[in-house]
Amino acid sequence: MPYQFECSEGSCQFRIRSSSSDEVERLVRAHVRMVHNGRIDRADLERGIDRVELA
Ligand SMILES: [Zn+2]
Repeated sequence: MPYQFECSEGSCQFRIRSSSSDEVERLVRAHVRMVHNGRIDRADLERGIDRVELA
């Protein structure tokens, strides 16, 4: 089941989708570190990851 994350920092349009929640987590952490110069809490990360049903 695909996982999706949409960044909610300001007007950031970053969105990632992957079949692996681990990969989403890894890429989101890298994104937040590189683009926002910060970190994301595990709770925020888990809250931000949506499971996407394929139509
Ligand atoms: Zn972002």
